[in-house]
Amino acid sequence: MPDIIIMSGNSSDEEISSVIERIKSFGFGFNLSKGKEKIIIGIIGDTRRLSEEVFSSCPGVVGIINILKDYKLVSREFHSEDTSFCIGNALIDRNHLVVIAGPCSVESKEQMITTARFIHSCGGKILRGGAYKPRTSPYNFTGLGKEGLKILKEVKKETGISVVTEVLTPEEVDVVAEVADMLQIGARNMYNYRLLERVGKTDIPVMLKRGFQATIGEFLNCAEYILKEGNSKIILCERGIRTFDSQFTRNCLDLNAIPVLKKETHLPVFVDPSHGTGKRDLVIPMSRAAIAAGADGLIIEVHPKPEEALSDGFQSLTFEMFKKLMEEVQPFAKIMGRVI
Ligand code: PEP
Ligand code: MN
Repeated sequence: MPDIIIMSGNSSDEEISSVIERIKSFGFGFNLSKGKEKIIIGIIGDTRRLSEEVFSSCPGVVGIINILKDYKLVSREFHSEDTSFCIGNALIDRNHLVVIAGPCSVESKEQMITTARFIHSCGGKILRGGAYKPRTSPYNFTGLGKEGLKILKEVKKETGISVVTEVLTPEEVDVVAEVADMLQIGARNMYNYRLLERVGKTDIPVMLKRGFQATIGEFLNCAEYILKEGNSKIILCERGIRTFDSQFTRNCLDLNAIPVLKKETHLPVFVDPSHGTGKRDLVIPMSRAAIAAGADGLIIEVHPKPEEALSDGFQSLTFEMFKKLMEEVQPFAKIMGRVI
């Protein structure tokens, strides 16, 4: 099962094309990356039925790597450099620490405009807010829907801020994508393979949240579903998993996942300490911890009046607390070589 073909940096164009033609003749896709010393061709598809011998005698080929993992495109072996991209004017890379903030749900234009202006004044780069909300009980507030998207559009226009908002179904991707600078796939939808494939066909950044019952391997495979369709602008978001203790915290923020993911994949890793803890008092300490563990960014719930929030008010920061968070994470970002 050859997955990566390494060719010498001075292979001729004909030699490279001949390897690519062979890959295509077996029905596989490819990913070509030309470096000075080496040319790397990744084979896209289930290579278990392909033999190494098909390529080993091709002129220019100096090595063949087999990836034994079931996710491939997202793995570091396949793509050793960190994936970096922009969301509006926020650069997601190893030198920056991007903070996304805003309420759990879009509730009114005034709520969103006030929040956008406030978080921006503190250094927050992207506004969050769900227009479509997946809720545990169908009787809870499930979002303003299209009206919420309209509010986000107006807030973007009036403030210039970029927004991330959740999409629940493949059918709604187009309408949400008209407004969103990044599409959020929530924890409850992490395993929605049709939705993953559908957002993979767009070229809009996607924030994929880890399911609360998902292993890290399953999480990576879900990102693979998106990347396989061509969209590599994916942020993985650790947002806490379910463990046995729910007395003091809503979820258990899995900080282990941060260095594990940074090692296993080239995709950026964000942390959501709001859902990860479920308690507003725990958000600042866990934000510091997430940065220290290597996170590329944070997503934080903030509300102008958390006590009146229609969802997740108990874990939403007040404006004052958000300002404090931004001040307190600053030295941690600096130690990690990141600019907020
Ligand atoms: C949210 O971001 O408000 C949300 C619903 O998150 P999660 O999917 O992680 O529960
Ligand atoms: Mn929420």
